[in-house]
Amino acid sequence: MEYSCSAYELKCNECGKRFGNQPLSACPDCLAPLEIAYDMELARVTFTRANITAGPFNIWRYAALLPIPAGFQPDLPVGFTPLVRAKNLGKRIGAKNLYIKNDAVCFPTLSFKDRVVSVALANAQKFGFDVVGCSSTGNLANSVAAQSARLGLKATILVPADLEPAKILNTQVYGARLVRIDGNYDHVNRLCTQIADEYNWGFVNVNLRPYYAEGSKTVGYEIAEQLGWRLPDNVVCPMAGGSLIRKIRKAFNELIELGLVEDKPVRFFGAQATGCSPISTAVKQGTEDILPQRPNTIARSLAIGNPADGPAAAKMIRATGGWAEDVSDIEIVSGMQELAETEGIFTETAGGVTIAVTARLYAHGRISPDETTVVCITGNGLKTTDALSDQYHPERAVRPRLVDFDEYLRELDGAPEPELAEELAIAGVSHVH
Ligand SMILES: *Cc1c(COP(=O)(O)O)cnc(C)c1O
Ligand SMILES: [Zn+2]
Repeated sequence: MEYSCSAYELKCNECGKRFGNQPLSACPDCLAPLEIAYDMELARVTFTRANITAGPFNIWRYAALLPIPAGFQPDLPVGFTPLVRAKNLGKRIGAKNLYIKNDAVCFPTLSFKDRVVSVALANAQKFGFDVVGCSSTGNLANSVAAQSARLGLKATILVPADLEPAKILNTQVYGARLVRIDGNYDHVNRLCTQIADEYNWGFVNVNLRPYYAEGSKTVGYEIAEQLGWRLPDNVVCPMAGGSLIRKIRKAFNELIELGLVEDKPVRFFGAQATGCSPISTAVKQGTEDILPQRPNTIARSLAIGNPADGPAAAKMIRATGGWAEDVSDIEIVSGMQELAETEGIFTETAGGVTIAVTARLYAHGRISPDETTVVCITGNGLKTTDALSDQYHPERAVRPRLVDFDEYLRELDGAPEPELAEELAIAGVSHVH
């Protein structure tokens, strides 16, 4: 299948200067992050509901507003994850119209990072990089490793040394070169900027960042399409670098501009862990100045102390009338359990952050019960099982006999022993199991 593509190029949001297409992330003049600008007149023709719904059930149905090089043949069916109504969770937290956008089951590596990586690697190939890579808090590492293996690209991936074991293994298994750095994400990222220049490698979230970030828009397109081409009242989204939350808004704005959805205000709510909360802190203080932090939280995938898109995210959240909150590690674990117990969705620590923040937003009346709210679950719980290791202990094994099972259940329920139950029955006291 051929994918049509609007003309696009890099543009500085500060000074408006355009830079064509090249591996470049910041404006050389004003140092502002570059974004992708599209020919929206062309998009009026190519990016229609009819064209989109005729496309495949993955992110490539939105290729007309993605920075995909001409002639690129998308291969992997990334995205188009479920949007599920969350009635049980809603009942618990006082929400009547609650939805979960479930990127815990994104293909191929179980986080929303698959979306950004597929767009970034399409451009890495076009720019002719032999080696690609990233600085990662975990999920990005998994996705770059898997997708570069499939494309036959060599990958070198840098991560903080203290990453969860499952995220380390989920990178190594694809044959990528994994370099553990003795430092936090912000140290890793700074090093990657130098490596990209020195070695001329394509780092998806460094020199390819403007292309990478556009992949996040597909979360927004999918939410609108899955709501029946409607926008929600609110979006709650976890924040690390602050990119995803902004790109969901960009997607909504494009849909409005092209007339695919009705114009309406959508409020954006950011979620962070208290142990790494530079953006939520700025939002609460009413400033766009981000004070970098040294991360200390179990939500490692969100542990970016100096977020690249932090100032823009803080500004955007306030401009929409939204808010940001942050929650403790204990609340994060509870949030993971609450989503699993109510909706049968096992999310990682970042999802625990998002659920706990959502509950607080309702509790504090920042979101009203009747409003339509979409909560973005961005990663899978199987990657961060260590966060739950104190919560569940293996029970003793039971012999495969009914009497042993009976006894075991009585132990669990704290029910009286059979003799005692008999005595109680004689005394006229019934014990209900
Ligand atoms: C990377 C990541 C995020 C946040 O992404 P940003 O665009 O950097 O804000 C959220 N959740 C998970 C699970 C992630 O891996
Ligand atoms: Zn500029």
